Amino acid sequence: AAKADGRGRWRRYAATLDQEASERAWIGRDLRTALASGQLEVHYQPRLDLRTGRTEGAEALVRWRHPERGWIPPVRFVPVAEESDLIVALGEQVMNMAMAQRRRWRDLGVPIGRVAVNVSARQLQDAGFADTVLAMLARHGLRPQELELEITESLFAGEAALVERALAPLRAAGVQVALDDFGTGFSSLSALRHLPVDVMKIDRSFVIDLGQDPDSDAVVRAVIALARDLGKRVVAEGVETELQQQRLRALGCDEVQGYRYAKPLAPEAFLEGVRAGFDAPLRAAETQT
Ligand code: C2E
Ligand code: MG
Ligand code: MG
Ligand code: MG
Repeated sequence: AAKADGRGRWRRYAATLDQEASERAWIGRDLRTALASGQLEVHYQPRLDLRTGRTEGAEALVRWRHPERGWIPPVRFVPVAEESDLIVALGEQVMNMAMAQRRRWRDLGVPIGRVAVNVSARQLQDAGFADTVLAMLARHGLRPQELELEITESLFAGEAALVERALAPLRAAGVQVALDDFGTGFSSLSALRHLPVDVMKIDRSFVIDLGQDPDSDAVVRAVIALARDLGKRVVAEGVETELQQQRLRALGCDEVQGYRYAKPLAPEAFLEGVRAGFDAPLRAAETQT
């Protein structure tokens, strides 16, 4: 029976591998078509100043509307794109859409602050990355201060020199850089001191247990203290509850982003949200306490 069990387990494991390989294959194939035929869209999630309630920025998050399979989340196709050069074309397309959107907001007189775009390792390996971004800003008539790039912490940990070289000309021009998913990438404290970033985004996994698990409070408190000493702003990702908001306020966090305020929204819905104000959950809590 043990043998049969083992064989069964192997068969299930092999089937899973097969499934993953075939998913990677169709995603890679269809993503090429998606890029060429405008199936990718960008949704926007606001980031609010915890004190003033102002919308300080919006994160651009790619969405894929597949003609037969419907919406496909980025966690399924971004990693596949990252295995090939497709991520370069995808990243450029998203950045271009995000900049066009940022320009439209400005033309409409909507105060959004910066638009934040996620950037993958492979994009930074291109020697022309900084020039591409600066040329794109100029084409859209945007100031560098209107753009922020989100880079994951693991990337800084593994390829610090590459990242610094790619980002230096952009930072010199005034583009902001954020350290995404902070707390998950095991940066050493000395590496953090020299990181070329303006903003630290605390990963959602630390925000989830705020107010319930003393360890989460301790981690977030330490990150905020560190960021303050280094002169960087701190953003908490994935804020969903009033308790989390309360703790973040008490700990002195600068900005919040999460479903409590808004999910990532299509541009039209985002615009309506800005006009109505995303900060009702901030004000509601204030009047209660
Ligand atoms: P990320 O950059 O850390 O983005 C935040 C993710 O958390 C988004 O998922 C967002 O919808 C989700 N989120 C925000 N607030 C909450 C909340 O309160 N609760 C929960 N449960 N989730 C929340 P999304 O849009 O599915 O994106 C997942 C990841 O895919 C992103 O993580 C980013 O790493 C990647 N990604 C998305 N768009 C792009 C892109 O254009 N380029 C690249 N390279 N990666 C992208
Ligand atoms: Mg991000
Ligand atoms: Mg993040
Ligand atoms: Mg994340």
